[in-house]
Amino acid sequence: MTAAAPRVAIVGAGPSGLFAAQALLNGHDGVRVDVLDRLPTPFGLLRYGVAPDHATIQGIQRALRAPFADERVRFFGLVELGRTLTRDELVAGYDAVIYAAGASEDRRLGIPGEDLPGSRSAREFVAWYCGHPDAEEQDLSGVTSAVTFGVGNVAVDVCRVLAADAARLAPTDMPQPVLDELRASTVRDVWLVGRRGPQHASFTTTELRELLTLDGVQPLLDPADLAGIDATDLDRRVRGNLEALRTAAERVVPEARVRLHLRFWQRPVEIVGPDAAAAVVLERTAPAAGTAVVGTGETEVVPTQLVLRAIGYRGRPLLGVPFDKAAGVIPNADGRVMRPDGTPSPGEYVVGWIKRGPIGVIGTNKADAAATVAHVLDDLEASAGAPTSGLEVDALLAAHGLQPSTFADWEAIDAAEQARGAGSGRQRVKVASWSELADLVRHGRGGGPLEREPDAPAP
Ligand code: NAP
Repeated sequence: MTAAAPRVAIVGAGPSGLFAAQALLNGHDGVRVDVLDRLPTPFGLLRYGVAPDHATIQGIQRALRAPFADERVRFFGLVELGRTLTRDELVAGYDAVIYAAGASEDRRLGIPGEDLPGSRSAREFVAWYCGHPDAEEQDLSGVTSAVTFGVGNVAVDVCRVLAADAARLAPTDMPQPVLDELRASTVRDVWLVGRRGPQHASFTTTELRELLTLDGVQPLLDPADLAGIDATDLDRRVRGNLEALRTAAERVVPEARVRLHLRFWQRPVEIVGPDAAAAVVLERTAPAAGTAVVGTGETEVVPTQLVLRAIGYRGRPLLGVPFDKAAGVIPNADGRVMRPDGTPSPGEYVVGWIKRGPIGVIGTNKADAAATVAHVLDDLEASAGAPTSGLEVDALLAAHGLQPSTFADWEAIDAAEQARGAGSGRQRVKVASWSELADLVRHGRGGGPLEREPDAPAP
């Protein structure tokens, strides 16, 4: 039978999941919340998506930590839905389950050469410089020219990290091997390529301006791309972007270390090998109906050794949970999960990027989570007393012979990262490998083996 206090499981300890946890705590005195994550580290994209040189946004971590200071909340790390336990077990055991799994796949260009070595998603590159334990090591040796496709904030982040000087990166929490690789970088040309005009770019003005004013970086753009744009109906962000670009077009940086090429109305048509990316072919575009573009047939070849697709993310299906393949999200009606037959699935909810797609900044998830949680609370009230199996995550895992990591384990990792930072004059140095994370979890428990070792990298 259901316990007197309603129990909610949240799958994913990133910003959307933790904003949902806080909204539950605020909305129901008796609620019990279990937050699950496949990593032993909470905070999701805040830890593994926000660029390390954006330390101020890391202040959000304080707000996201808050739910864990409440005894009604527990953290279960090293728990992966579909692998460690099933959706059916969770749904049967809890009064409500909230999926907060984010968008962990990336869109593809669908052009020849996309899978050549040296061509990868910006997501992989971001994961590497943020110290994600699944990230592959990135080898920048021999890279003098790097091309990014897409003109959103992810593209701006990766261009900034590639173009930044050592002084900007040195105080960050990047793992030491990442910092060493970037310090030794020989990248001299960075290309930011948009298939439409500057007035259509999705980056935000603060982020764009930061990129355009980096020390030692010469922005290069064709003033013709900025001419003749009717500003009448443009919103404040776009007008700010255009102004920042116009200023940058006139900026002269003596003895620039890096050239930043901003190219608009260019679409990628091929990444040229033969054995690894050696160049990209761009085709000039022109506006077509609506927001579409057409190729003009006019092409240009840009030599490069590193191609990064920053063209947006997609959600990954969770085993047993409805999924809209085309949109890359869990189908839902304002946060209530919808079955393929169009009816709501009782007790199942969704928040964040897996609910609405990969749009918005971290703070956007607060209102988004609150909207879903309002439905959770309404439904809990309406179904008070409805039976569940009453089985909780720890009991479910114990039944499988598994042991999750806890918030105290994360605190041991946190302390170790800060101690590493102190040793090298930084606030924190991230631990980036599964084995070291596992060692820290073990160590925090006074040694001994983990009943379950952290997962191997996802396939
Ligand atoms: P995004 O803003 O949606 O940008 C994706 C870009 O890729 C657009 O320029 C899009 O152009 C382009 N694109 C899509 N398909 C393409 C194709 N086949 N060929 C060429 N270009 C293509 O996505 P994002 O940069 O991944 O960012 C995701 C979210 O995270 C955004 O809300 C962003 O603001 C947020 N974010 C924020 C920060 C920050 O605040 N500092 C940092 C990182 C991310 P079209 O417009 O023509 O489709």
